[in-house]
Amino acid sequence: LNGYVGFSNLPNQVHRKSIKKGFFFNLMVVGESGLGKSTLVNTLFNTSIYPAKVEVEPTVDTPKTVDIQAISADIEESGVKLKLTVIDTPGFGDFVNNEDSWRPILAAIESRFDSYLEQENRVNRKRIVDNRVHACLYFIAPTGHSLKPLDIEFMRRLHQRVNLIPVIAKSDTLTDEEIKLFKQRILDDIAANKIEIYKPQIYEGDDAETIDETKKILERIPFAIVGSTQEYEVNGKKVRGRKYPWGVIEVDNEDHCDFVKLRQMLIRTHMEELKEHTNQVLYEQYRTQKILSGGG
Ligand code: GDP
Ligand code: MG
Repeated sequence: LNGYVGFSNLPNQVHRKSIKKGFFFNLMVVGESGLGKSTLVNTLFNTSIYPAKVEVEPTVDTPKTVDIQAISADIEESGVKLKLTVIDTPGFGDFVNNEDSWRPILAAIESRFDSYLEQENRVNRKRIVDNRVHACLYFIAPTGHSLKPLDIEFMRRLHQRVNLIPVIAKSDTLTDEEIKLFKQRILDDIAANKIEIYKPQIYEGDDAETIDETKKILERIPFAIVGSTQEYEVNGKKVRGRKYPWGVIEVDNEDHCDFVKLRQMLIRTHMEELKEHTNQVLYEQYRTQKILSGGG
């Protein structure tokens, strides 16, 4: 495919077919305990009209250090249903020695590639279930300094296997100026360590509106986020946010944080691109390396 197809922009026919087949997206969240992963997941699901059924999938077989847990829920976006599965990784970075924290997470991602590969190799390939991780939100502590060795190690080990999306956790604890400087430091560290993070592409032939939209997302990377499902009344309107003596920091206000842009990129404008990149680049690379190394 040339360019992306945002799922709310699909022509009607494709649209209908896709609803039948079902839109789905698998999102992983990684970061130290207490950085707001669970809260962000709730914040993502909460924007839905469809929170009814949340099922816990069986845990993937991985070393005991880090748990891998998947929860799925149907959400609705512009009248289209989407099955969003979030793969949480409690325990990451919580140990005295975190040198190997990335290992179980890499193992979980690769085991999902293996499962896909195994299904592709079957004679009957009609009902392939795609459990591959389409994007990984990596939570960076809001220190305002620079990346920790743990952050760099994780990203370095994972960037060839998953679309990495770094986010600044709890950005309401930093001032706008601190966020601006912190973002630049993070980007510098990422570049200095030759880490590849996911960046939406601008394609030849994109219309002006699309290019503008993509640029606005690019400007926000790494996304400074605030998570909350708590509602407050601000100027007579109910908003989700976090309350401070001087006012409410609003989750869904683009002047307050980057949550809206992140959500928009993930489940509206760039979902297909993230899935395509997972399939055509990351998975393909894994598959090739596996064949070359004689495994599988
Ligand atoms: P997890 O361990 O990464 O899943 O973190 P949790 O979602 O359980 O959040 C840990 C604590 O941080 C809770 O008390 C949350 O209310 C709080 N928290 C979560 N998100 C934010 C945020 O964006 N800003 C602030 N200030 N606190 C947050
Ligand atoms: Mg949690």
